[in-house]
Amino acid sequence: MHGRPVPRPSPHGGAYRGIAGAGGFQGREALGKYIENPAAFMDTRTACFPNGAGADVASTLADRVISYSDDFVSIHDKYPKASVHCLLLPRDPAVYKEHPIVLLSRRDAKGVAFLEAVRAEAEKLRAVVGAELRRRYGQFSAADAAREAVLRGDSEASEGRLPEGRDWTKDVVVGVHARPSMSHVHVHVFSRDLHSDKMRHRKHYNSFSTPFLVRLDEFPLDPDDPRQPYAKRVQGGLTTLSAESAHDADDDASESGEDSRGIDARGESEGAQHRLDYLESDLQCWRCGRRFGNRFQELKRHLQSEFEAWIRE
Ligand SMILES: [Zn+2]
Ligand SMILES: [Zn+2]
Repeated sequence: MHGRPVPRPSPHGGAYRGIAGAGGFQGREALGKYIENPAAFMDTRTACFPNGAGADVASTLADRVISYSDDFVSIHDKYPKASVHCLLLPRDPAVYKEHPIVLLSRRDAKGVAFLEAVRAEAEKLRAVVGAELRRRYGQFSAADAAREAVLRGDSEASEGRLPEGRDWTKDVVVGVHARPSMSHVHVHVFSRDLHSDKMRHRKHYNSFSTPFLVRLDEFPLDPDDPRQPYAKRVQGGLTTLSAESAHDADDDASESGEDSRGIDARGESEGAQHRLDYLESDLQCWRCGRRFGNRFQELKRHLQSEFEAWIRE
C-alpha cells in the first residue's frame, strides 16, 4: 500500500549499495537492486520530489525510489525519456523475470488478479506523476490559471472550493515495452511530452510513441497480436508457454540500464519471425501528428516548441 509508514533508512543500506555496485545488478539486471533493497535508494532529503527543483531536477531524481510496499517499488527512471518518467516494479520473484507481454496477457485467475494489482498500483503512480506535472508546470497552464490564482491568494475560491483545474493525469502514459531492454518486469509511467535530453535517437522516441509501447489498458493482449513475443509460433493460445521459453528472446544484454542499447539489440536480434517494425518507423510528433521521416534533430527542435505549448494548455 502507498500509505505505509515512511521507511526508515536501512542500517545496511550503505553496505548493500557497495555490494550492488560491485556487480550482480548490472546491465539488464540493473533493476534488481531496487526490488531487493528499495530503502537503500530512498532519498530521505528529498522524499518523493524535491521542493523548488531547478533545471537539474532529472539528475536529482534519477535512480530514486518514490515509494514501495511488499509487492511493488516505484522509482524514477535512471534515463528519463520524458519530463517525468517513473517505473513500477513488481517484487514477486515468481513473476518478475517473466516476459511482461506474456505475464500481463495471462487469462487464468492468478494472471487476471496480478494484472488488476498492477493496474491499481500504476494508477497510484499515475497520480503521483500528474501531481508532479502540476507542481512544475501548473503555473504556466491556462487550465490551471484560476486554481493557481487562488493558491497564490490573488483571488478567492468560490464556495470555498479550490478550482479543479487541469487534469494532468490525462497526459500520463502507462505501459510496457513489447521487447523490453531490462530483464525485470517494469511498467513505464511517464508524461507524454517525451521531452528529455536523454531522448537521443529515433529508436528511443519510437519505443515510447508507437505501439511498441503496449499500454496497460490494452491487456490482456490477443494471443495473435503481433507484439506477442511468440505470436507466430503459438497457435492455440499462450497456455503452452513456459516461463523459460518466454525468456529466450530476451538474452541480449543492455549495458546501460534503461538506455537504448538493449532495445536496439532486441530490434535487430528478434529475427524475421518476431520482428517488430515500430522502432524503424517514421518519426511522428506525439502532439500534432506531423511526420519527420528519420530527421530526429528536426523532431527534437519541434518537440521543444510542442512542450512549451503543451504546458500552456
Ligand atoms: Zn523498459
Ligand atoms: Zn507537433
